Amino acid sequence: MATAIEIFKHLPKKNCGKCNFPTCLAFAMQLANQKVKLSDCPLVSEEAKAKLEASSAPPIRLVTIGDGPKKVELGDETELYRHEKKFFHPTRYCIVISDQADDEEAGSKLRRISELSFERVGQTLAMDMVAVRDDSGDDTKFAAMVSRASAAGLPMVLMSDRPEALRKAVKETGVKRPLLYAANEANIDAMAAAAKELQCPLALRAGDLNAWPIWPRPPERPASTIWCSTWRPRGPRTWWRGTPSCGRTPSRRPSAASGTR
Ligand code: SF4
Repeated sequence: MATAIEIFKHLPKKNCGKCNFPTCLAFAMQLANQKVKLSDCPLVSEEAKAKLEASSAPPIRLVTIGDGPKKVELGDETELYRHEKKFFHPTRYCIVISDQADDEEAGSKLRRISELSFERVGQTLAMDMVAVRDDSGDDTKFAAMVSRASAAGLPMVLMSDRPEALRKAVKETGVKRPLLYAANEANIDAMAAAAKELQCPLALRAGDLNAWPIWPRPPERPASTIWCSTWRPRGPRTWWRGTPSCGRTPSRRPSAASGTR
């Protein structure tokens, strides 16, 4: 993101106040902090607009999971780590259900997901997403659990490294824009093709951010991508965030009261 001074250099310097700030410098400072939009200045030239938009575009893309009022938006950040600057799209919480869970276990988890809501430092926290993990290796079982979990009405994460299982689950259940989790070095092309066909965001899993030579993004790769550097398929819990985690533990975890997978 450009600094206020860099932005100021490209502004008209008329100090006309049409942007609701008395001076161009004041406007530039607000723009640098992403409190206003460049379009609030009606006098900015097309040339300046092109330069400023390019320099202020967040390096982390906006990733949308789900649809409607409960959709989850992640990324669109200018910084990689939260300690560098406040995230505009905070960490979201998700509970994982195995497709091998029996009726009672699945029902109990889904009930807890819908009931879970608690206050923490002035914020009401609740589950944002529900994930279904392909433990069975059976496409039909996986799709059936996805269908059941979709009744929670939350954006979904479909956890499988088999593109055919993901295709079947999305097509048969009609679940809207789930996050497909996850591509790895072995299945990246097939997973990218599935994500493109299904118009879904795709998480990438690797040991670190330099594992794959995919930056800048080749055109055939899906536009919405979440980097996830850690995955514990049998671990106690799984968290996602919209920005590359680089193996770091998310800085804010659900408390013990927020449920287990
Ligand atoms: S509207 Fe544009 S030219 Fe006028 S004060 Fe604001 S930034 Fe400056």
